[in-house]
Amino acid sequence: MKTEVAVIGAGPAGSSAAIALSKKGISNILIDKRHTVGIPVQCAEFVSSNISSYVGLSSFPSAVNQRIKYMDVDTGRSLYRFDGRGFILNRDIFDLRLAETAVLSGSKLLTDSRVYKIDRQKNCIEVLDVLEKIIYEIYYDYLIIAAGPKNIFKFPKNGSYIYAVQIKTELLKESDCVTCYFRPYIPYGYGWVFPKGNFANVGIGIEKPASALPLSLSFDKFLNEIRSAGLIGLEIIEKTSGLVPVSGLNEITGGNIALCGDAAGLTHPITGAGILSAVISGSLAGDYAAESVKTSKNLFNGYKEELESIFKKSLLTASNKRYELYPSMNDEYGIDKNIKFLWPSFEEYYK
Ligand SMILES: Cc1cc2nc3c(=O)[nH]c(=O)nc-3n(C[C@H](O)[C@H](O)[C@H](O)COP(=O)(O)OP(=O)(O)OC[C@H]3O[C@@H](n4cnc5c(N)ncnc54)[C@H](O)[C@@H]3O)c2cc1C
Repeated sequence: MKTEVAVIGAGPAGSSAAIALSKKGISNILIDKRHTVGIPVQCAEFVSSNISSYVGLSSFPSAVNQRIKYMDVDTGRSLYRFDGRGFILNRDIFDLRLAETAVLSGSKLLTDSRVYKIDRQKNCIEVLDVLEKIIYEIYYDYLIIAAGPKNIFKFPKNGSYIYAVQIKTELLKESDCVTCYFRPYIPYGYGWVFPKGNFANVGIGIEKPASALPLSLSFDKFLNEIRSAGLIGLEIIEKTSGLVPVSGLNEITGGNIALCGDAAGLTHPITGAGILSAVISGSLAGDYAAESVKTSKNLFNGYKEELESIFKKSLLTASNKRYELYPSMNDEYGIDKNIKFLWPSFEEYYK
């Protein structure tokens, strides 16, 4: 098979790249190892209202579960409230609709297809059809890697990751507020309760090996605390887990290859948010790949520069704060003293 641009990964980054390419009339193949795009969901599903500038959510309203007005930060001793306007998505539908938009615009989507090798000399990827157990090759002029947080194609320095675990459970009182909990027993991370109608995504993320505590122990403690506060029920409806890269920007380009989304290390090193940056970087990578095809000139250096101009400073600040401040937050006094300098909703964070 031959295409002008191959895109590995049909998450928000990859599908946004494919949409940008197809809208510019560039042939592209979007490849995902999953059977159904968007499933399983490995996300707490909150995105700020800025997403509306990039994705027309009104054209697929079922991708939005509910609106959010506030963000609360709970340190155990104090509760801070911020404007937190945004949405809780149905990530499965959101991801699927983005991929469908790409297909409707002209992209070819291959699911059940795991890319396991990139041959950079031959400009070719090797793909395993996981159902048919057949291996085939796709030749490309440009390649976009949007394969998520930890994958075999990252050209990275050794990254640090947050290990996250989450359940979907019954929410006992509906809410329009996402709450983040800082506790000594959730070191180098935080817990969250994000409402989803009558349900809630409840999880914690901890950086390993910075934390010696087993994730399951911290999570049980967190669930006990939230249940005792009468916020959630006992039933576990779904359970998920995943990785969040927290080292900041990765390699973004290499020759005719561009990385975007989590694969480029674009998740915020403190909040862990990555949906919006995946969409922004995917669209940009698609735009630059399209122009590169049209002009027969590799313009990925421009992609790198533009991406850095948008994200580098804020990711660097967050990454530095993560390693300067988290060590001082290993007891409740440290948390209360330093939270304002660690969490980006506070003005002090920017000083
Ligand atoms: C528990 C948890 C909670 C989170 N909560 C939030 C939140 O509330 N808000 C927020 O903004 N962010 C959140 N994030 C981060 C967010 O989910 C990611 O930043 C976002 O999904 C990144 O999008 P992406 O397209 O780069 O990668 P992904 O969404 O990871 O998509 C990558 C795709 O590539 C495919 N793939 C991988 N390898 C291959 C291969 N070899 N061949 C073919 N396909 C492949 C995968 O199947 C997947 O579909 C959370 C993350 C976790 C783990």
